[in-house]
Amino acid sequence: MIFVCTGTRVNNKSFATHFSDLLDDEGRIKVNAHFQVEGFDNVFALGDCCNMEQKMAYFAAKHGSVVSRNIQILQANDTGNKNKPLVSYTRTYISLFFSLFLFFLSLSLSLSLFLSLFLSLSLIHNTHKNKIKQQPEFIR
Ligand SMILES: Cc1cc2nc3c(=O)[nH]c(=O)nc-3n(C[C@H](O)[C@H](O)[C@H](O)COP(=O)(O)OP(=O)(O)OC[C@H]3O[C@@H](n4cnc5c(N)ncnc54)[C@H](O)[C@@H]3O)c2cc1C
Repeated sequence: MIFVCTGTRVNNKSFATHFSDLLDDEGRIKVNAHFQVEGFDNVFALGDCCNMEQKMAYFAAKHGSVVSRNIQILQANDTGNKNKPLVSYTRTYISLFFSLFLFFLSLSLSLSLFLSLFLSLSLIHNTHKNKIKQQPEFIR
């Protein structure tokens, strides 16, 4: 059995009815730079279901930080009668590439460590075997 896990569409059944006019071509909710659903101040969408960027857990976590900050700001503005601006999301791929770079670096280091350990052990084993072979019959 084969499961196709690429190019999946967002499961938008739970919001497609209420936000039908706010969905993009891929069925994702259109949001602004603060993750507010278009036309709403106090409705946010983030992660895979919003149209901010590619669907990745890494980005969803970044969205979460901005949304939680913005909810706090909205609440503080409401209760304190302030007008603090909301935080805008900026797409940065540098930290993503850096974390991927670190991942592949640690992977290649572990692999090379494992390979060199394996080669050294087999070299020691072969040397030892040859030494035994070279000894006269009566010592063996
Ligand atoms: C096969 C596969 C591999 C992936 N590999 C990677 C990877 O290596 N790296 C990476 O960064 N990303 C990867 N992703 C993408 C990553 O999984 C998503 O981008 C990420 O999970 C999005 O998080 P989210 O919180 O937006 O949505 P989700 O993680 O999908 O969370 C949504 C939650 O809402 C729940 N829900 C849905 N409808 C309702 C409802 N009506 N009421 C209550 N709850 C509801 C769902 O059950 C789910 O628990 C992969 C995805 C797939 C499918």
